[in-house]
Amino acid sequence: MEVIPQERSWVELDLSAFAQNLDYLKSYLKSHQGFMQIVKADAYGHGAREIAELALKKGALYLGVANLEEGKLLRMQGIMAPILILSPSLESEIGEIIEYDLEPGVSDLGFAVAFSRAAGKRQRKVHIKLDSGMHRSGLRLEDALDIYRQIAALPNIHIEGVFSHFAAAESDAEFSHYQEMEFQSFVAALPHKPKYIHINNSAACIRGYGAFSNLARFGIFSFGINTTDDTAISQALKPVMSFKSRISQIKSIKKGESIGYNRDWIAEKDGKYAVIPVGYADGYDYLLSNQAKTLVNGTLCRVIGRVSMDMITIDVSQVTALQTGDIVCLLGAGDESIKAERLTGLYQGSAYELLCQIGRRARRYYVDGDSLLYSAPMSRRDFVADDFADGKLSEIISKALSQRLRSKEMGNLIYRDILRSFFANKDRDLHYRKDFVHEVSFLPSDIEGYYRVKTTLSYHKVLDSERFIIACARSDEELRRYFIRRDVEYRWLLDEKLELNEDSFRISAARVNGIELNCRIRQQQNSLEIHCSHPALEALIGQNLLFEIDTDTLYPKDMHQFSVFISELTQGVKIAFNYPEEIRVVQPVTVFSGKQKNPPITFEPGRIVVASSRQNWVFPLSGVVFSY
Ligand SMILES: *Cc1c(COP(=O)(O)O)cnc(C)c1O
Repeated sequence: MEVIPQERSWVELDLSAFAQNLDYLKSYLKSHQGFMQIVKADAYGHGAREIAELALKKGALYLGVANLEEGKLLRMQGIMAPILILSPSLESEIGEIIEYDLEPGVSDLGFAVAFSRAAGKRQRKVHIKLDSGMHRSGLRLEDALDIYRQIAALPNIHIEGVFSHFAAAESDAEFSHYQEMEFQSFVAALPHKPKYIHINNSAACIRGYGAFSNLARFGIFSFGINTTDDTAISQALKPVMSFKSRISQIKSIKKGESIGYNRDWIAEKDGKYAVIPVGYADGYDYLLSNQAKTLVNGTLCRVIGRVSMDMITIDVSQVTALQTGDIVCLLGAGDESIKAERLTGLYQGSAYELLCQIGRRARRYYVDGDSLLYSAPMSRRDFVADDFADGKLSEIISKALSQRLRSKEMGNLIYRDILRSFFANKDRDLHYRKDFVHEVSFLPSDIEGYYRVKTTLSYHKVLDSERFIIACARSDEELRRYFIRRDVEYRWLLDEKLELNEDSFRISAARVNGIELNCRIRQQQNSLEIHCSHPALEALIGQNLLFEIDTDTLYPKDMHQFSVFISELTQGVKIAFNYPEEIRVVQPVTVFSGKQKNPPITFEPGRIVVASSRQNWVFPLSGVVFSY
């Protein structure tokens, strides 16, 4: 790799191995057959988006996911290909299944009826699942045909496919043939044959089952794992995922000493062992204790002692010229003994499970053979695609805002999902702020122990009401209440010791587009609400206007820190803090989320300015803490 990761552990995903495995699997397809790439569980831990994109490039006709969330995420990442939800969905998920244009696998009539009712005018595609012997989801054989007919008669539903699933394609030929026959005779009896008939998973495809079907569903083999005991297949497949770490310590051990919890392993002779900073919390299974092998500088080294949460120990007595920092391969290519199927074979575990759990705390590096393509953080909820230029995002957001598209356009999905998760209320009108400037000045006051604080706030925003509230709360709880109210434009937390009145909190100006608003004070028990309105605003609703709010209030000197946070999606943020000479040192700590995580900070005598670039989107709960 060009860039050698410096992390404690990381996952390497070899996309050229994946492509090679797909070619191998495709060589088993008949001329009338295509394939669906299974990307459930984040593509068995390989990254659903990356795997989906490459599989589509290699000719996949469909993508298979486990549930709505997984399908939705792919849509948000810009994937337009047909997506089948393999597991039964909940009726409560129907709205979003339709919204995100996903195709549900249907296993019962009740769901189909609800889906049909919600589908609207457009024909919505579904795949009917038959239970041919797996006895998990699917229609039971005895009434499958009857229910199929009822579903086919429902309005707004188009049956795009029928499918079933093998229970033991890799190991039980007799039962697989039985399932194959049952499925085939069901299909033969259908009044109309749907476009896609599918039953094969990877193993079934290689076994040559389901010749009458026209779509195979590739999963585990495409990731280079062989679940059969056929060694020729093992040789043809290449593991896509490798899990690597570094030696953090090398130590010697004397005969008779034990290592790790419960003293499970005791040295039979003097030797050398190494500590590796991964454990079962990283997905390295506890059951690999005392038996798994790892690969260090070309030598296989056994795990000795129990796997702990964050560490394992390996026997390195045989490795010469070993140094801390040397790379250890715990899973993947390089040697048969560290293949997932071999490791899980040690404890009768499942290779599927190991792939899904490994590298939970690790960054992913996508490679093509030896060269690094790019790396991706472990968080899969990275909804703003990293190849998105800000300009493009802005354009999409503005467009979505002005048109409220009901289409499945990706920009709309990203936009709404960002905001939905931020505001946790999908029906509320979605507006954002632009050119946000917040100036804070600490000044001397006549009240002992307090600074007088003048703040001026200005930004552009679409006006959505002719009135809004500026709130001053006296407890955190009260403040929180104002955070979830949409009619509150600005909030302030007042020191508990102060009386709530015009002296402790005053609005010195509230303007929208230069119009001085009328401010009415409403005193509550633990808060002061200033209701701002003006008759002229009504005519301006829907327009993008300049908001200016200036306040005058008090802040305790002994607090020693002052924070400014933004509560809405904002494009371009500038926060300035002006302080008197008596405060010698101010330390700003920024907490920014969005694209620019570390906005530039400028220091002048008595003034600190934190400003993101004007084009950058800053997400809510970003801000600065000034400690003094
Ligand atoms: C997971 C899954 C597959 C893929 O199976 P592999 O054994 O990984 O090839 C195929 N079909 C369905 C319905 C699945 O759930």
